Amino acid sequence: MRLIVLGAAAGGGFPQWNSACAVGRRAWQRDPAARWRTQCSVAISADGERWSLLNASPDLRQQILATPTLHPRHGPRHSPIAAVVLTNGDVDHVAGLLILRESQRFDLYATGAILEVLERNPIFNVLNPEFVRRRRLRLEQPLALDGGTTIVPFAVPGKVPLYLEGEALEIGAETEDVIGLELWTEHRAKAFFVPGCARLTPALAERLAGAALVLFDGTLWTDDEMIRSGTGVKTGARMGHMSVSGPEGTLAAFAALGVRRKVLIHINNTNPILLDDSPERAEVEAAGWEVAFDGMEITL
Ligand SMILES: [Zn+2]
Repeated sequence: MRLIVLGAAAGGGFPQWNSACAVGRRAWQRDPAARWRTQCSVAISADGERWSLLNASPDLRQQILATPTLHPRHGPRHSPIAAVVLTNGDVDHVAGLLILRESQRFDLYATGAILEVLERNPIFNVLNPEFVRRRRLRLEQPLALDGGTTIVPFAVPGKVPLYLEGEALEIGAETEDVIGLELWTEHRAKAFFVPGCARLTPALAERLAGAALVLFDGTLWTDDEMIRSGTGVKTGARMGHMSVSGPEGTLAAFAALGVRRKVLIHINNTNPILLDDSPERAEVEAAGWEVAFDGMEITL
């Protein structure tokens, strides 16, 4: 299985258009240690010909331009992109669907809850149903994607998208609103894509233990990072993301799981691990983690 990180940043990208916090300023200055990153999406394929996108970010057009593997190859209309799989309904994961609207055949997979969100937003009708089949993902049901990869969707603690938050908001529920994806290689090795996760439950920890590769929620370094950097008023917990650092954080939670390759992805523009020379980056690397970047390729 080949995996290409099309975008490694969380919503807003790095730098975010209106953010000049301490971390973002380095990116605006084109500091080489503060590499720009687009919003989170990953492409996977077993045969190298037919690719599936895990989430469709608003930066998708730019991501395709930057990735020769995804360029059209046969005239007059062609794309190696055979499918899109959504892990939730957040803007940074679905807005890229609008880029894929030119009557091109592909399968769109999402849970019932997320398909309903798309149905309720008529702008997504630009995806012509004659070409784009919307197909329901069923939790825990293996699904063979065009291109030879099998995925298994599973519920992850999270919440509904920000634009659907009501008064009775529940955070951390394991429903169809937020999923992770188990990816099976041809050799039955297991990899995981979990770009958003509110907490690592014992069941989830058990599932991830011993995996060949995990790409995991690296949104925030500390829970109060948005508040302290003056960029927001919400904690990570309120946004449905566990932090990377701290006793309850991702580094601690994975310490004993025996995952062979650990990659932080979906990184918010305030997170100091984005800076190659930060102490926080040194700390994640010392704990055996890599920080994803656009164009990162992994073969399993
Ligand atoms: Zn996101």
